[in-house]
Amino acid sequence: MTTTRSAGHLEVRGIAKRYDKVSAVDDVSFRMAPGEFLTLLGASGSGKTTTLKIIAGFEAPDSGEVWLGEQPITQLPAHRRNIGVVFQNYALFPHLTAAENIAFPLRVRGIGKAERAKRVRHALATVRLEGTGDRYPRQLSGGQQQRVALARALVFEPQVLLMDEPMGALDKRLREALQLEIMRIHRELGITICYVTHDQEEALVMSDRIAIYDDGRIRQVGTAEELYELPESVFVAEFMGESNVFHGTLDGKGKVGRLIAPRRPPITVSIDGPCPIGDGADAVVVVRPERIRVLRRRRGDSEPEPGRNILTGVVQDVIYLGSDRRYLVALPDGSTCQARVGAAHADPGIGRGDHVELTWDRADAILLEAPAAEREATS
Ligand code: ADP
Ligand code: MG
Repeated sequence: MTTTRSAGHLEVRGIAKRYDKVSAVDDVSFRMAPGEFLTLLGASGSGKTTTLKIIAGFEAPDSGEVWLGEQPITQLPAHRRNIGVVFQNYALFPHLTAAENIAFPLRVRGIGKAERAKRVRHALATVRLEGTGDRYPRQLSGGQQQRVALARALVFEPQVLLMDEPMGALDKRLREALQLEIMRIHRELGITICYVTHDQEEALVMSDRIAIYDDGRIRQVGTAEELYELPESVFVAEFMGESNVFHGTLDGKGKVGRLIAPRRPPITVSIDGPCPIGDGADAVVVVRPERIRVLRRRRGDSEPEPGRNILTGVVQDVIYLGSDRRYLVALPDGSTCQARVGAAHADPGIGRGDHVELTWDRADAILLEAPAAEREATS
């Protein structure tokens, strides 16, 4: 294997696939830069595997196209696509040794014996399994078997590598070790990787960008930071990390908007640029727990500092997490707000039953359209 392979520039254009009444994938599109590591992240049944099968050529889409570089590959059989695939359940041939397993894709492609042996040696070295080529799968641990599967997917120098929950069957320690191996190989080979997982942390650790799947569709594609800081929907905001979600009606005035909830003081938000949500429309404001400060309530009426929002409430619970404290605070309307305060800033004297002020910079409040189902329910 050389490290000068041409990395793939993979593009999926509006693919859709139905199984009877189930829409497994519905109008999915994304474009990967050569050498990029993109993760498809979503709950079980959201269409991730179906997407990979269509890219690999194991399933034909009902509509849409797959492109690799300047070439449409939707009609090509799987073995002519120059795409390597690793599945969760290693799928090694049990009656072949590790080396024979790795050599298999080379045989299929008609590569001669001497060249095969050379490439297999190199692939074994890439996944750090030198010396185990003669063993059968049953003589290898789960982690080693998965590295053989990885070597087999890399040995024919594909432009793109697809991985479908490759750590799913491994315990936590092995998973972390294999994660690092995959990240090293990605760096060293510069190969384009489309990776599937339902594990948010794994996605955050490994990916350049993440595509959030929901019910056969992609809700948003972006870097971890973009998805966390600039979610485009309540679904993505709630999917990535923890959040407080406030519902109400938008009262927008210039650069400042107010979310008017039925029984709570208004929540102010900064509106940067043109507001995508009409004045008077149902809206949602998301505030991340770590953006909220928790202060003991002062006497008299509380006035927020300029540019900040303030809510008052009563502490229900304080959870000590070492690096920070998590406060669960009951708001006057009966809902609960969560705040996370770093150890350096937390007041250890605040406990259950204390009256507190919750404040945050209004620029930290994320203004979003109310989810469609909710808008229908209230209209
Ligand atoms: P994921 O990998 O995200 O868990 P899948 O792509 O495997 O999701 O499945 C998406 C949806 O399509 C699910 O509802 C699943 O039950 C359905 N599905 C997948 N493959 C088939 C199939 N061969 N026949 C019928 N339904 C399928
Ligand atoms: Mg799957």
